[in-house]
Amino acid sequence: MPKSEKLEFQTEVSQLLKLMINSVYSEKEVFVRELVSNASDACDKLRYLATTKEKLIQDDPDLKVKIQVNKKANSISFIDNGIGMNKKDLIANLGTIARSGTAQFIKEMSESKTKDLSLIGQFGVGFYSAFMVATDTQVTTRKAGENKIWIWKSDGESNFTIEESDDLDLLESNRGTKIDLILSKEGKDYLDKIKIEDIIRRYSDHISIPIFVTDGTEKKDESSEPVNSASAIWTRPKNKITKEQYKEFYNHVGQMFDDPWMTSHYKAEGKIEYTVLNFIPSTKPFDLYDPARENRLKLYVKKVFITDNCPELIPPYLRFLRGIIDSEDLPLNISREMLQNNPVVTKIRNALVKRTISDLKKKLLADRKSFEEFWNNFGPVLKEGIYEDFERKDSLLEIALFKNLNSDKLISLDEYIEAMPKKQKSIYFITGDSYQNIVNSPIIEGYKSRNIDVLILDDPVDSFWTSATPNYKEKDFKSVTRGVDDLSNIDGKKKDEKENKEDKSADPLINLLKEKLKDKVKDVRTSSRLTDSPACLVSDESAMDPQLEKILQQHNQLQQGVSLKIMEINPNHKLIKALTKMSKNKDSINKVEDAAFLLYEQSRIVEGDKPSDPIAFSKKLIETISASINS
Ligand code: ADP
Repeated sequence: MPKSEKLEFQTEVSQLLKLMINSVYSEKEVFVRELVSNASDACDKLRYLATTKEKLIQDDPDLKVKIQVNKKANSISFIDNGIGMNKKDLIANLGTIARSGTAQFIKEMSESKTKDLSLIGQFGVGFYSAFMVATDTQVTTRKAGENKIWIWKSDGESNFTIEESDDLDLLESNRGTKIDLILSKEGKDYLDKIKIEDIIRRYSDHISIPIFVTDGTEKKDESSEPVNSASAIWTRPKNKITKEQYKEFYNHVGQMFDDPWMTSHYKAEGKIEYTVLNFIPSTKPFDLYDPARENRLKLYVKKVFITDNCPELIPPYLRFLRGIIDSEDLPLNISREMLQNNPVVTKIRNALVKRTISDLKKKLLADRKSFEEFWNNFGPVLKEGIYEDFERKDSLLEIALFKNLNSDKLISLDEYIEAMPKKQKSIYFITGDSYQNIVNSPIIEGYKSRNIDVLILDDPVDSFWTSATPNYKEKDFKSVTRGVDDLSNIDGKKKDEKENKEDKSADPLINLLKEKLKDKVKDVRTSSRLTDSPACLVSDESAMDPQLEKILQQHNQLQQGVSLKIMEINPNHKLIKALTKMSKNKDSINKVEDAAFLLYEQSRIVEGDKPSDPIAFSKKLIETISASINS
């Protein structure tokens, strides 16, 4: 008998197991759903492999899951005749957590004091949920086409053992997996066949292979009926599927445990045929911003699962979709390489994108409130499409919603345009990293006081799409942080006499500021965009969006250095008036020079930047305060 080998769990697995074992999470029954789900996935994988290697399935072609309740032994077993695992698979799958987002999440959760375990339930913990009810877990498994049987054992502490066995009687089939759980005190509730059947009906009815439950008391032919419907849910007519059944399937296929926000089930018939059953979650998946931006759609061909790793199926900006596509046209033995540049896949993708956007538009028109919930979750992801998918740019902009200066409601671009004063030609926007900072920025004071609306764009993605999108429905996008303001041309209110005339009164100060700040700013000019503040910094018309510049700089991706800004001053401000006066007097020039420096530095701070020279700034500030106290 070969010796058993002791191996350590990856740290995150140990952390997760600790959370599981000590959990007070009440819905322990999810372990049934998770283990059945894994068994069904294992059968799906085998079915796919068997499309090219028929031998693997020949001796035992009826894929199934069996759950055995054994009161005497105080155990419950989950048995499948799916793909099985070899030693390497066992170590990789039941000793580590592959998805980086999940590992990170567990790490954070185990370090946090609050330990909100309902979150664990929300994202599904798969196999490890067994430890919520079991003191000991044993996995006996044989990979399809291989000889050896492997036994994995753990009591949920920091390690597990693996041993080899040649006892073929350990498994009923010549392949597959048997998971035995020795139940803990709390787990004993699950020694009840009726209870297990009820859980299966609730969570796993959609599983497309039959699930049988036995407790050894049935007469010979009694256990031959599966507990579930055992047909792929998307092949059933829509009116025969309940909301709960859709939800169960969504939970299973999407590894999401909320309610779907939108369910889309249809069959496309024509040159190419396929069935779609897709969902949009009502909450944000925790790995929505994973840099890989992978989609989670599963591709089936004629009901056979092919892959859940098909980047060609949907663009990254729709990665929040969950569900399946079942094609009638692709060959069953299609390989991953063949999926790339496959014309059928491209057609499905185009139709899927079009349909998804049009469904979203319908929802926007039919139920604004609900659409806004969707937008708050996934708007920033969808906006990636505005610059990544040129063809869909306009239809995405049509359904996009924005925060804005004039109201606390989200508005669409069409609504913005509708409300524009006649003389306003452009769609004004401002980008930044937080709504609060932006609305308090001096740059938009003039727009505020004149009731001219400005879109407040505070998602990082906004800096990218606005830089690549010149217009919408023939209206230019114009950043209020760039170029000369054209406020006085569109002012809805009566014009101020003074505003119309070119104001030259501040010229002496402007000349002095230009000289003193010549290394720091590109130009100094007066502006009508300021009402309460003395000065602000804006970018040149041709310069990069300042927020985009900031983001690129943070990621060391700015080729040339940060571009110099233009300082705009408010000639009607008390301080500017006083400084203008002082700049004409030789004796007070020094003070104006100090003020110029302070003015420049504080304008940077207001825009969320650091002072260019924090030490000099602080020193000058203290000197100025001291002087004003002493005087
Ligand atoms: P997930 O199912 O989300 O990948 P799990 O922790 O539930 O995570 O399972 C980890 C992996 O272990 C699975 O991806 C699969 O490769 C493997 N596995 C689990 N159960 C089985 C089974 N019954 N048969 C074959 N492989 C399995």
